[in-house]
Amino acid sequence: MGHECQCAACREPGASITREKHAQLNTFLSGLDGERQMQFLGLESINPAHGSDEELAQITGISAAAIAKSRWQIQYRWLADMRSAHWRQFVYRENNHENAKGRSHEKGT
Ligand SMILES: [Zn+2]
Repeated sequence: MGHECQCAACREPGASITREKHAQLNTFLSGLDGERQMQFLGLESINPAHGSDEELAQITGISAAAIAKSRWQIQYRWLADMRSAHWRQFVYRENNHENAKGRSHEKGT
């Protein structure tokens, strides 16, 4: 059993969809190790429909600052991947250009 959400909806007596969702999220998180918990929350926080950092912090008991940091790490890694993909494409194109020049040169001789 993970953290128990303390949000207004969960403090109200009786079952609600919100309460069920928050409990399911915490049960899911309790099955992950610390690093995966942060990766999951970082991803969740990218989509505003899944809740703000503060909302996720209230549900999970993990600080909003830690969730924001995890999101930055995910987005930074994604940007770095994009740049290296672009770079690989550039190098590939340059190599092809060199090959084409080499072939035409062979033909000429
Ligand atoms: Zn809640």
